Amino acid sequence: MTAINALKPLIRTIPDYPKPGIQFRDITPLLANGDAFYQVIEHFAERYQDKGLTKIVGIEARGFIFATALAYRLKLGFVPLRKPGKLPAKTRQQSYDLEYGTDALELHDDALTATDNVLLIDDLLATGGTLIAAHKLLSDTGARIHECAFLITLNDLPGGQKLDENGIGYYTLFEF
Ligand code: IMP
Repeated sequence: MTAINALKPLIRTIPDYPKPGIQFRDITPLLANGDAFYQVIEHFAERYQDKGLTKIVGIEARGFIFATALAYRLKLGFVPLRKPGKLPAKTRQQSYDLEYGTDALELHDDALTATDNVLLIDDLLATGGTLIAAHKLLSDTGARIHECAFLITLNDLPGGQKLDENGIGYYTLFEF
C-alpha cells in the first residue's frame, strides 16, 4: 500500500471559501479517486480492526462518507450525529459555539448504550467545537469512545490542543 501521505496532494485548497480569508481544504478530488478513497478506508480499517469496536459514529455531513465506508468494511453498525431536526425519533442534543452564533448536533436517544465501544469520525478538525460537542453527546450515553479520527487537522487552529486538554484521544491522516 502506498504511504498514506502520498495522497495528501489530492486535497485541494480553495482560497476565500466560504468567506474571504478562509483556506478551505476540499476533499472531493480524493473522494473522486477510487484508489485513493480505497486506501484511506483500508488505512483506517487496519488501525481499527480487532479493537472491539461495536459502532462507527459519523458527524454530518462529510464525516458520514468515511464512517459509513469504514463501518461496512469492518461489518459494524453506523450511527449518525445530525444537525437539529433531521433525526425522526427521540433525540438528545448538544449545542456548540460558532464564530457567529451557535449550532447543535443530535443523536437518537436509543442509538448507543454503555455497552458500546465506538469510533467517532469527522472529515476535519479545525477549532474543535464540533468534535467536543459530539464527544459530549456520546459520553453522556455511557458508551466508551475508543478514539476520534479525522482525515485532516488544521494545525493553525486550536482543535488539537483543545482535544489534548480535554483528554480526548485522536488520530489524523493529514495535517495542514
Ligand atoms: P470545527 O468545529 O471548527 O473544528 O470545524 C470542523 C467542522 O467544520 C467539520 O465538521 C468540517 O467538516 C468543517 N470544516 C471546517 N473547515 C473546513 C475545511 O477547510 N474543509 C472542510 N470542512 C471544514
